[in-house]
Formats: sequence, C-alpha cells, structure tokens
Amino acid sequence: MTKKIAVYPGSFDPITMGHVDIIKRIAAVYDEVIVLVAQSSQKQSMFSAEERKVLIEKSLPELKNLKVDIFEGLTVEYMKTAKAQIIVRGLRAVVDFEYEMTMANMNKKLAPEIETLLVFASPEYYYISSRGVKEVALNGGALKGLVPEVVIEALEKKIEHRT
Ligand code: ADP
Repeated sequence: MTKKIAVYPGSFDPITMGHVDIIKRIAAVYDEVIVLVAQSSQKQSMFSAEERKVLIEKSLPELKNLKVDIFEGLTVEYMKTAKAQIIVRGLRAVVDFEYEMTMANMNKKLAPEIETLLVFASPEYYYISSRGVKEVALNGGALKGLVPEVVIEALEKKIEHRT
C-alpha cells in the first residue's frame, strides 16, 4: 500500500500552538506529515527559513512521522516529488475562508489529483496567529501558551538583538 503523506505548507514565522495542534492531529491520521516552510522572496519574515525549520523540529521532538522541509515554489510541484497526496491547511475564523478556498481551487486547477484538507482550529487556539504573536513579543507581552517554549526563547533573543 502506498504511504499516505500529508503536506502542511505555510510561513510558520514562527510556529505557534495553533500550528502545533494541527500538526499533531494530522500526524495521528496520516503515515507521514511534511511541514513545508515557504521560502518567499516577497514576504518579509522575522526568522529565516532555516530558523523556522529548526523551531518546528524542536517544538515537536516526539513526533516520529514528522518531516520539515524548506521550499521555494509551488506547493503542488513539491507534492509531486515527495509523492504526497494531501495539502493540509488550518481554518480559523471566516476571514481565512476566502483565501483558503481560492488557493485550494488554484491548486486543484494546477494538479487535479491533489486534494486540500481544511482542518478547523481547536477552540483554545483559534485566535493565535504568527503575526499576533510577533506583535505581542515586540511589545513585551506574555507569550506563554501562545507558542512552544523554544519559540519564546527565540523570539526574546531576536528582539533583544534588534534593540
Ligand atoms: P501562510 O502565510 O501560508 O498563511 P501561516 O504560517 O500563517 O502561513 O499558516 C499556515 C496555515 O496554518 C494556514 O492554513 C493557517 O490558516 C493555519 N493556521 C495558522 N494559525 C492557526 C491556528 N491558530 N490554528 C489553526 N490553524 C492555523
């Protein structure tokens, strides 16, 4: 039987408890989960793609069927080489819907054999975003419970070096 591989693409700048929750839930139902860190030349990020990758790995050390990769380009192209069948995305509030629907349909057009799976954010994490977390961090707010411990340390270090 072919291995069922799910790819969870995103910026993960940085990984939050919302992302961690989605990854764990998907890892429980697929043979392998590949978290795909988007290397984008257009989007300004706080952490480099390599730093984001390491933070994801350190946030989920116990997850044996997790792989983290960096990719610049179309997710569907990566999927073909990785022999993955499912794209996973998280859905928080209604505002996520339009963006996710457009992207899922675009991917369907590019690669009809690939399906997008939208997973609802857990109620305790639905309000968490990487952007919100960075805003809290930059203004000295408490980060506990929003991101994994390793990310708290990394954010503090980043901000310390900025000032
Ligand atoms: P992107 O820039 O591609 O949207 P993100 O890193 O912001 O990348 O998010 C990656 C995916 O994770 C998106 O599908 C997003 O909706 C989802 N996501 C982000 N935060 C949460 C959360 N708190 N709970 C569930 N899903 C989330």
